[in-house]
Amino acid sequence: MGEQLKIACGVFGAASLKDQPIFPYIYWGLRAQNHRGHQSHGFLTYLNGEFYAYRSLDLVPKIRASAIHEWFGRLPGSIGIGNVRYTTSGKTDDKSLLAGTQPVVASKNGFKVAISFNGNVVNTFQLKKEICKEFPNFTYECDADIICHKLLMELKKRNHLEEAVKNCMEEIEGAFSVAGITKDGQFFAFKDPHGIRPLCAGHGLDGDVYAFSSETVGLDINGFVRDFELEPGELVKVSENGFERVQLAKGRKAFCAFEFAYFARPDSIFDTKHVYEIREEFGRNLVRENPEIVKNADIVISMPETGDDAAFGVHEESGLRWERATRRHRYVTERAFILLEKERYTTIDKKINILASKVKGKRVIVVDDSIVRGDTTKVTIEKLRMMGAKKVYIFVTFPRIVGPCFYGIDMATYSQLIGAKHTPEEIAKIIGADAVCYQSIDGFVKATGFKRDELCLGCLTGEYPTPLAQKIAATIKKRFLEGLEETGRLYEIPELFGESSTGKID
Ligand code: SF4
Repeated sequence: MGEQLKIACGVFGAASLKDQPIFPYIYWGLRAQNHRGHQSHGFLTYLNGEFYAYRSLDLVPKIRASAIHEWFGRLPGSIGIGNVRYTTSGKTDDKSLLAGTQPVVASKNGFKVAISFNGNVVNTFQLKKEICKEFPNFTYECDADIICHKLLMELKKRNHLEEAVKNCMEEIEGAFSVAGITKDGQFFAFKDPHGIRPLCAGHGLDGDVYAFSSETVGLDINGFVRDFELEPGELVKVSENGFERVQLAKGRKAFCAFEFAYFARPDSIFDTKHVYEIREEFGRNLVRENPEIVKNADIVISMPETGDDAAFGVHEESGLRWERATRRHRYVTERAFILLEKERYTTIDKKINILASKVKGKRVIVVDDSIVRGDTTKVTIEKLRMMGAKKVYIFVTFPRIVGPCFYGIDMATYSQLIGAKHTPEEIAKIIGADAVCYQSIDGFVKATGFKRDELCLGCLTGEYPTPLAQKIAATIKKRFLEGLEETGRLYEIPELFGESSTGKID
């Protein structure tokens, strides 16, 4: 059972119109996006009505040239999808992690569909109940299983992809960016009506290969041209004419703001802007918003790599020297944020080497992307103090996180968020900083180039784009402030849903 699972993923899929083997494209598309999930990876290809899958733990592996034919044999066909994934949960043994690895497949009575998905389902109770009627032994290790089974049921009912996807969009609440293949070899992708997670489309220069990727870097590595970001509520099919776009549902666009600050690679493009340019502007904003602190600082350093571009912005706007005093241990690749609970605290030491001579006796601004629990920032500050830093000011590009995420980022409860209960001044005290300066929400939004009502800012404002998430957040926040102990994802706490477990809060 996956009741306590929290997931986030990277999706890639591609189809060759000239029957080229697709595996190499999927492979590179995932290699470029391994930052979106490092605990497991999977490939699935399609040939003559059959799916061929390979799933394994850890990073997408290096493949030796001598082994490539073995891989082509294992994953034949000219259509394929892939996924990289992370999870943090009570069940983190290898067997459970592997069972939750995508792509996933659902089949019944001659119908079959495979999907790779990024996001998170909010109304899992309601959907699980519905799916169990058709699949009495249904259990799931990740939300992809729910989406895949729901899609299969709709396909069975209607035998029509557009209508099936439309119904999924209407009945699944949450974030879902999906690439999939039907039993007939129809390659498609779609996004939830709010377009919360990224998914873009692109093609090879000779017009042969058409692809979907969570981030544009998955297209870049294959030498593809980016065509468009899927619209919220849009289904895109690939046929002999290329992309065929169908708008099936329309909700308020609510693209995840956290993608800009933390999750995405700096060289990815969302709409028209490179993420690194947006992060530079975050840094300039932080200088403009905190002139007194900047006046009293000697140097700026960054937490690599998500703080680097913002630190350059701080340097540009303030004239302070950006001292490259934090260096990564290059081959330690785990991201602290996506490690398991017990690993999280210690890994900061393993990942980053701080150059003591550069910070000794200095008043230091440290640029970081976000403060979630505060534990890694606390360790960094302790280290800087030990190395003789005189003052430590933390500049945070993502505004203060005050609420959980329901849409696929690993911060599913109030109790794990230091910002849910404490002001910036209190947080500074708790983590040992001389000051904690968050970028303002207005400054953040302006820098992204999006309009405020085109972004999901749920974890910053408590206003979530989907109704069930909003209701659960409000109910649980009240109970959290009254001392409720949270376990797992908020929307999977059974007592919240009463006897019916329908996912509805009255
Ligand atoms: S709640 Fe926060 S992290 Fe989750 S999708 Fe919205 S902006 Fe992103």
